[in-house]
Amino acid sequence: MRLCRFDNDRLGLVEGDGVRDVTAALDGLPRYGWPLPRFDPLVANLAAIRPQVEILSGKAPKRPLSSVRLLSPVANPGKILAAPVNYKKHLEEARADPAIHHQKQVVEIQKIGLFLKATSSLVGPGEGIALRHLDRRNDHEVELAAIIGKAGRNVPRERAFEHIAAYAIGLDMTVRGPEERSLRKSVDSFTVLGPWLTTADAIADPAALDLRLSVNGDLRQQANTRDLILGIPELIEFASSFYTLHPGDVLLTGTPEGVGPVQPGDRILAEIQGIGRMEVAVRAAA
Ligand code: MN
Repeated sequence: MRLCRFDNDRLGLVEGDGVRDVTAALDGLPRYGWPLPRFDPLVANLAAIRPQVEILSGKAPKRPLSSVRLLSPVANPGKILAAPVNYKKHLEEARADPAIHHQKQVVEIQKIGLFLKATSSLVGPGEGIALRHLDRRNDHEVELAAIIGKAGRNVPRERAFEHIAAYAIGLDMTVRGPEERSLRKSVDSFTVLGPWLTTADAIADPAALDLRLSVNGDLRQQANTRDLILGIPELIEFASSFYTLHPGDVLLTGTPEGVGPVQPGDRILAEIQGIGRMEVAVRAAA
């Protein structure tokens, strides 16, 4: 099942190049008050919402996807976890290019672990990317995103997939420079998630997905998730040894080689096999 959030926080069921408005499926969601939970209500209640979506979809008219504005399908992640240098060829390119490594040692993921991105950096493809530091190099990084569906801590790798609700395409946008990753990658709009949630049951093998990214029609990144250094089970095991994972937490699994700069006016097209494709416009921040 493919579920999107669009326009004015509508919930959509995506079918081919169309979308059905199934927002009424959210009517049964528990009401949350202050203090708000650390999880995303849609993802936490996905099992209960899915049958409602099925029922409603029969009556909801189909609109073209091109006519709606896609927002981040996860509205309220508790945290955004991200894997640095998790493809071998990206590790090699980062070590070879001073504009990427900035005189810092580029360390393997087994030593450096994970980093966190501010949740305020999260947008959907329809919102676009706003660059604030036009004098710096701002890079695209396409990544498979796994969305946590079930809370867990100290999750062994053998049970990792029980904790994943869905997958999406992630863009881990980055200002290159000497500062900490979490600062440079948390600019507003620098985490793009979309175009929708593809539920985990629809992805037979997340470790065998082609992914690619082009800018203005030029292919920049092309790889397969089988080349991940740490796969999703290992990432979940490692992350949950530090943090309790909550439904709606987003795990960005790392980018392959081919990262490169974008400028205002560029159009990014990102695609992952089995999930779909999303187009994201780049602009200068107002
Ligand atoms: Mn990244």
